[in-house]
Amino acid sequence: MHRIVVEPPKPGVRLIEDDEPIPGPDELLIETLEVGIDGTDLEIARGEYGAAPKGEPFLTLGHEALGRVLEAPDDSAIRRGELVTPTVRRGCDLCLPCKSGQSDFCFTGLYRERGINGLHGFNSERWMETEEYLVPVESGLREVAVLTEPLSVVVKALDQLLKIQERLPWKETGDLAEKKSLVAGSGSLGLLATFLLRVEGAEVLTMDRQADDAVKSQLIERLGAHHLNAREVDPLTLARDFDGFDIIVEATGAPQIPFHLLPGLGDNGIMVLLGVPGKKMSIEVDAALIVREMVLSNQVVFGTVNSNASHFRRAHGDLTKILARYPTEIRQFISHRQSWREFEVVFGGQRKDVIKDVLVWAE
Ligand SMILES: [Zn+2]
Repeated sequence: MHRIVVEPPKPGVRLIEDDEPIPGPDELLIETLEVGIDGTDLEIARGEYGAAPKGEPFLTLGHEALGRVLEAPDDSAIRRGELVTPTVRRGCDLCLPCKSGQSDFCFTGLYRERGINGLHGFNSERWMETEEYLVPVESGLREVAVLTEPLSVVVKALDQLLKIQERLPWKETGDLAEKKSLVAGSGSLGLLATFLLRVEGAEVLTMDRQADDAVKSQLIERLGAHHLNAREVDPLTLARDFDGFDIIVEATGAPQIPFHLLPGLGDNGIMVLLGVPGKKMSIEVDAALIVREMVLSNQVVFGTVNSNASHFRRAHGDLTKILARYPTEIRQFISHRQSWREFEVVFGGQRKDVIKDVLVWAE
């Protein structure tokens, strides 16, 4: 059986052949259909992040997967032939969030993550998993279900955001309709946030450093959102025109961006941080201005990471809505589908016009 591996912390990705997995009594055997590639995979491939399972030299890459059940225990609620999307994080079994099925809030830091940290990922022909970490998906979502994992991270972020904004009960806070929103970054999370905010009826500006005629910029405009090239337009001037944003979604991972954007947040506004900065960076900010505005305007800034099975289930519902409203655009979002045998192209460095890479393992 083939799998795509790295040898952390060494850079480089390669293909190895390995024995077939033999499922334990509680485990299902899954055939991989598709695996999405994201920035974390590329970081691991560059040797900047990631850890192999204890005692093993290699880590199988890939944490955004769609699979089909080949074998299931007799008492499993998930049956042979069903499509499944696996969650990523496996809890520490020590803290209350992990014991409650919410390892995305783990506070010991002793969790492991498939394809990232201490557990093999899904870029192999077959893999095994227990039922609790598999979320079945309807066959109608077959074409886009590989997006479940990244979308679930956005689902969790917007869910947390709405929960916090319940502090404003007079403001129709239960939904995102007509909320003035700024999304910073047009990576997978930024674009999926744009899709979801638009589906929920928000007014959206999505900001990146791409030209207006770039592939991503055009996709953003087709969603009825506005594309903003941060090289050309000052977002704060725009925020003033917008009378302050209700919501800012930070998905660039550039650590200075939240500080630059905070003055654009409106009264009672909320900023969610999704991007994880890498390199160390110091900047000069007008701290008094930022703190004063946050206090006098009742603003909230919060961070969020990962997702759990409940967010995967909701992501399937949201994918159904997105597919109904933006059928062409969500297919265009998966800009590059290629055989797993072409993995070196995907990990080989910058390519033009890539929105989302997906490796195809089986039809
Ligand atoms: Zn925990």
